[in-house]
Amino acid sequence: MAKKQFKTESKKLLDMMVNSIYTHKEIFLRELISNASDAIDKLYFRSLTDDTVTLKKEDYEIRITLDKESRTLTLRDNGCGMTREELENNLGTIAKSGSFDFKNDPEHKDKEQIDIIGQFGVGFYSAFMVSDHIVVESRAHGAEDAYRWESRGADGYTVEPCAKDSVGTVITLHIKEDGEEEKYSDFLDEYHIRGLVKKYSDYIRYPIRMLTENRRLKEGSKDEFETVTEDETLNSMVPLWKKNASDVTEEEYTTFYQEKFYDWEVPLKVIRQKTEGVSNFESLLFIPSHAPYNYYSRDFEKGLQLYSSGVLIMEHCKDLLPDYFSFVRGLVDSSDLSLNISREMLQHDRQLKAIAKAVEKKIASELSKLQTSDREKYEKFYDAFGAQLKWGIYNDFGMHKDVLQDLLLFRSSFEGKYVTLKEYVSRMKEEQKKIYFASGESVEKISLLPQVESVIAHGFEVLYLTEDVDEFALQMLRTYGEKEFSNVCQDNLDLATEEEKESLKEENESAKDLLDWIKESVGDGLHAVRFTGSLKNHAACLSSEGALSANMEKVLSKNPGNQAANIKAELVLEINVHHPIADKLKKLFESDKDTLAKYSKVLYAQARLVSGLSIENPAEISELVCDLMVN
Ligand code: ADP
Repeated sequence: MAKKQFKTESKKLLDMMVNSIYTHKEIFLRELISNASDAIDKLYFRSLTDDTVTLKKEDYEIRITLDKESRTLTLRDNGCGMTREELENNLGTIAKSGSFDFKNDPEHKDKEQIDIIGQFGVGFYSAFMVSDHIVVESRAHGAEDAYRWESRGADGYTVEPCAKDSVGTVITLHIKEDGEEEKYSDFLDEYHIRGLVKKYSDYIRYPIRMLTENRRLKEGSKDEFETVTEDETLNSMVPLWKKNASDVTEEEYTTFYQEKFYDWEVPLKVIRQKTEGVSNFESLLFIPSHAPYNYYSRDFEKGLQLYSSGVLIMEHCKDLLPDYFSFVRGLVDSSDLSLNISREMLQHDRQLKAIAKAVEKKIASELSKLQTSDREKYEKFYDAFGAQLKWGIYNDFGMHKDVLQDLLLFRSSFEGKYVTLKEYVSRMKEEQKKIYFASGESVEKISLLPQVESVIAHGFEVLYLTEDVDEFALQMLRTYGEKEFSNVCQDNLDLATEEEKESLKEENESAKDLLDWIKESVGDGLHAVRFTGSLKNHAACLSSEGALSANMEKVLSKNPGNQAANIKAELVLEINVHHPIADKLKKLFESDKDTLAKYSKVLYAQARLVSGLSIENPAEISELVCDLMVN
């Protein structure tokens, strides 16, 4: 019989498939199963209005048969089948719907080959990646005759009549011999095929069946095994996210989550979303109850699984999740996306962007709901992932603050609990102009800072920032509503009355020489020395001028590779003007400048320690203190 030639483009594509270097050869099975499922869909829909279709819904199936001896994998469906013309047109030509334009001849250009596999509906042809001889036998619904389409690759195909007593299609793939790099025999292995069906086609609506051999204990025996052949349905068919929310139990969600995302704990929250209209998709999302061990490392791969009408098309679709919600696990299933869309194209896909936007909104609103409905749970969530939200504020120059700022929690001087910014502001006194915060290693240490004591004494609440990222995030926020943030350890803390300010100004001016002497004595690290009136009992404290606080300097210096690692905060030593030490210093300035120099160093060292900074010259300070003790 005369061989027919493939259309030019098809031939090129076929060539690429035959010699494919595409790494995901296994997707051929997904493609063929999806075709079979579409064919069944067509017949099923026809049956709704056409009495000549006698199959009932439960009769439909897709069947896989493996034969190691003849090296064949057979896929059989009882869908609509194809007429002779359809076999020729559908399998002889590719991409009837899309424009398949080989502008640059992609032959021998490996990279482009991969792109093309990803970009077009190559479906059926992908079978040539794993087989060198394909036979398709099909009988269309309503037709008396069946036809066999057969091809051994790019040199053409034949179509001839054949015997087939039921409607549907049988595709037989003669699997290639194993090569040095490819083990094609895997596609004849029951276990492997079962895994591929589970991975890519678990939610195909019709049963995908295969006769499987299973070993089990002989009935009535305790140690004798037998091998039994069973007709097994490989796919679970109805995706959890397609079921009515009211029909799914907590346990089902938990099992699904644990199996799919390899977590042993129960998820903290399950989120379901269904959108119809501009974009059609469903999502099933989980907030884990703890961060995975590699969450804050480079290994962690964010992303949601992406399905197209129940068929998995991507395992980790990064574009579906912003970094600040990277902890969310789950999946999106959309009927708007084509099965064969490539990664490169997805990035620019408008549908996908719209979905991502909607998913982000949903996550934000669910977290916000959780914050009010179950604060305890929310705090647990926040302990695990709060840092990520704060990084989200810091990154991209605060672009996402509107989504994130109300999700933040900070410890505060108010009952020592976590508070939101909204709660803080709602408690602000009328005369309070700013949102006060202080940072340090722990709540305990921060609460003992001289400046914190004094702000609290004024009746104001202070946020306690204990994580590295905190202050950077607040600096990026700058304000919450109308209110500015103010670091109580920063020089511009403004709590004094006009009168107090005036008298302090005079005090500082008249003691200028003394203060300069102290600064000189301490040396390089210090930017300025001043008297302050706002400390309660402490003799001195450390504050800073400019954008970088002492704590931020500490954080930056932890990472020596960081460009900013050597930037120093401009430290100011503030001495309590109402403390007896102030008088002592003044007296020494008149009588004994050497001792004053020693006192200055000790005072500065104390202030550093109280602020949670280390002393740069501990041996010298220790000696000085001893010196003062014995004299
Ligand atoms: P696509 O599925 O993207 O259209 P394919 O090359 O996979 O491209 O398939 C081409 C066409 O062949 C399908 O659109 C369908 O009409 C037909 N076809 C493929 N497999 C089957 C099948 N099992 N039963 C009926 N028709 C099929």
